[in-house]
Parts: sequence; C-alpha cells; structure tokens
Amino acid sequence: MPKFYLTTAIDYVNSKPHLGTAYEKIAADVVARYKRLMGYDTYFLMGNDEHSQNVAARAKEMKLDVMDYCDQMEEEFRRTWEILHISFDDFIRTTDPRHISTVNELLQRIHQRGDIYKGKYQGWYCISCEAFYQSKDLIDGKCPSHGTVPSWISEENYFFSLSKYREQLLHHIAERPEFVLPEVRRNEIVSVLKSGLEDISISRSGTPWGILLPFDNKSVVYVWFDALINYISGVGFSDDSEKYRRYWPADLHIIGKDITRFHCIIWPAMLLSANIPLPKSIFGHGFVKLRGEKMSKTTGTILDPLRLSEAYGADPLRYFLISEIPFDRDGDFSLERFKERFNSDLANDYGNLVSRSLTMVDRYQKGRVILPTRTADDTYLQEIAEGLLSRYQQAMESYQLHQGVRVAWELIRGANLYIDSQKPWLLAKDTSKSGRLAEVLFNLIEAIRQVTVLLKPIMPVKTREVWHQLALASDFEKVTFKELEEWGKIPSDTVVKPGQALFPRIEERE
Ligand SMILES: [Zn+2]
Repeated sequence: MPKFYLTTAIDYVNSKPHLGTAYEKIAADVVARYKRLMGYDTYFLMGNDEHSQNVAARAKEMKLDVMDYCDQMEEEFRRTWEILHISFDDFIRTTDPRHISTVNELLQRIHQRGDIYKGKYQGWYCISCEAFYQSKDLIDGKCPSHGTVPSWISEENYFFSLSKYREQLLHHIAERPEFVLPEVRRNEIVSVLKSGLEDISISRSGTPWGILLPFDNKSVVYVWFDALINYISGVGFSDDSEKYRRYWPADLHIIGKDITRFHCIIWPAMLLSANIPLPKSIFGHGFVKLRGEKMSKTTGTILDPLRLSEAYGADPLRYFLISEIPFDRDGDFSLERFKERFNSDLANDYGNLVSRSLTMVDRYQKGRVILPTRTADDTYLQEIAEGLLSRYQQAMESYQLHQGVRVAWELIRGANLYIDSQKPWLLAKDTSKSGRLAEVLFNLIEAIRQVTVLLKPIMPVKTREVWHQLALASDFEKVTFKELEEWGKIPSDTVVKPGQALFPRIEERE
C-alpha cells in the first residue's frame, strides 16, 4: 500500500487557536481524508510549538509553571481539533522527550558535519515572529508582519552555515518544481536564494526556556531550528525506527505562506547537512482574512472557530472554508457570506436533494431501492457522473480543494434538475409507470451515494449521516474511491431510512 505522510505547522501555545489556525488544520485534514479514500496508508502529524519566549511570558502572566501552562494549552488545542473533526494520527509537542532527543541527534550531526560555528550576532529580533531581521527587512523600523518595533540583540551565538546550501537548494527546486507549491511561493523562494543567503544564528543565550545545545549547555536552540525538527521527531526518528523508515520523507508539509522561508530554505538545508532525505512537497497556503485583514492574536481580529461550529456545526464551517477560500490564495471570511452559502449550497442543494429523494423512495416504494431490470436508456445522471471522479481527483491532487468541491457539486445540481424534470410525484400517480419511477429513484439514490463519497473529506460527519440514511451495507469508515468506479453499485436489498434534515436553514433557527 503506498504511503502518504503529511504535516501542518505546529502552533505556538501563547494563544488559543483562531479561525486562521483552524483553516490550515481543516485543509490538511481534507487532504488526509482524501488520501485515505485513495487507499493510501496515511500518516497525519500535528502538534504544538512550546519553546517560544512568548509562551514562557504568557505562562508567567498567568502565574503558571510553563509546563503546566503548556499542558493546559495542549488540552485546549486537542479539544478544538476534536470538535472540528481533525483526524490527525499523532500530536507532537516540542517538550516531548522524543522531540528533545531528535533535536540533540540532529544538532550533533550538523555539528559533526562542520556546519555550526560560534560568532557574534547583532541584529533585530521580533519576538512575535521569533525571527531575526536585517535593517533592510524592516518597514519604518518595524516588523513587516507585526508592525511592532523589534529588539536589538547583540550576543555570542552559534551559527548554521546556511549559505553553503544555496546552490544545492536552487538545483533541487529546478529539478523538482513540486518541492515548493504553489508556483507563486516557488518564485519567491527562488528569488530569495538567487539574491544570496546569509548564515543564521541558531542559539539564544540568556533564556532558560528551550532545548539546551548538546555541545554548549549555556545556550538554548533557536526556537525555529528546534520546531522544524518536529517533522522527523513526530514520525519516530528517535523512538520508532520502523515508523520512521515507513513514512519519511514527508510527502507534504502544509504551512502558511508567511513561513515558507523557514520551511523551503532553512529546513531542507538542515536536512542536507544531517544527510536526511528532503520532504517531497511544501505547500504555502494563503490566509483567511476578516474584512481584508489577516487574523492573528497580535492584530486582534480573532474569530473563534469553536463558537462558529457550536452555532452552525463543524461540517458547514469546514465546507465554507474549503469551498470559499482557494487554498493557494487569501480569502475573506464573513458571517453573511457563510450563512448565504449554508442556505444555498447545504440546505437547498445537498440537504434537499437527500431529503426529497429519500422521502420519495420511502413513500412510493416503502424505502426499497429497486434495481433497474433492463439496460437503462436514461443515462442523464450517469453521464454527469462519468469522468467526475477523475476531475475531482485531479483537483484534489493539485490541492485545488475548492475546485474539488465545485466538481462534486455538478452532480448535486444535476440530480436536483433531474428531479424537477422527471417529476417522480407524477410518475407515482400512474401504476403503469412504476418501472420508470423505480428507475428515476434508483438514479437519484446512486447520485447521492456517489457525491457523498466525494464530499466525505470535506464533511466527514454529515456524509456519514447520509450514508446511514442510505442504509448501505459497506462500512463508511472503510470506503475508498473503488466504490465509485462503477455506476449503480447498490445492493438489491437496500432499504433507505430517511432521517432528520441535514442542514436546517439558518434563518429558521434564529
Ligand atoms: Zn514579527
């Protein structure tokens, strides 16, 4: 069985997850669930980044021991991901012993390679970014991401010979363009590499919160150098060699577009230095914005994903974020637009299709789905379905997730039009047309079955509900796309069980 190992960025725990953080995890979850439907042995890693000075500062503010604070935040993050149905396989914390021993091993390797040296660091440091800046990077003397004045740092530090790997990275990207996705991010990285690389400081002195350098215990590892290593520590580098051999290199790192330099330059250079294979793809996604502004704790525009999913359900929130915001670009979140699409797409299109169709099968045929006895000459829906799976897969393989949703919706729209044109309620009035009625209803149930599998990665809970209403024998958790290769794979003894409305319209409840 082919494998697929994917990761998201790990999150600083100095604040709760916001809608922007949730968006990344939801999108990654859609990819993971899609790969499982493809039949891949999928391993999906997420986690928390705890060695930030901001985390230590936040714990102090709360008058908590840093570890106690991090434990509390782990619970908070895990609870959020559970409510949003994020199906990660493992959750790494940078304070885990398995992570600390991996960081040690990697630093030793890089040190032995001769890529770490001592020097004096002078420069700007933004604590919110946990990043070093040169004067030319600042805008009016302020951090380009946070708009705050960074601190001037001057200390003895260890440096990593990043510049040494410039040519090799350029060559790697030229050979494997899929290494940095989407193209716009690749062009940025290539231009950074072409303009030259400087070595980077990889240690901090004077802060006790972090992983001690294995060759100098008076300094801690720079938080980014530490954090990036989670992608191998979380897959067994130091504690499960079998798992590590199975899944590394990662097939996909999903990250925000603001941290592509760390992931597409520093991380692969670290791996090259330590003689570890590079990940296959790094995808830098766009941001969820609120009236055009990036969401983050520091800019103050926070929408709570938990409150939204409590109010409207996790699946509709997942559906909206994935279908409304192209994964490679920025997109806006607005409650008005969310409600609009909830009502039009989920309540009217998908929800209605399921409830009308199942109710008719229930009413006219006592719930029995009658298989067509002759070769069907009504192939309207079958024709829409043909080629749909491969177009859907094409979209998903290129991480055009919103396009995948759009393709699936063609079948939903087609099926609703089909009901309107075939008018099964008229066929039901004429007993001589019962054969034709059975055929129409069969086509509708089959269209629902197909589209429900396609939408499973996006709405895992609602699609499971539909599957149960269809009362199909196969276990929905184990379904793969093989189910869709043939039109009409419905067992002959199927008796549907219509249930409650899937997506009651929003204004009716408010
Ligand atoms: Zn900053």
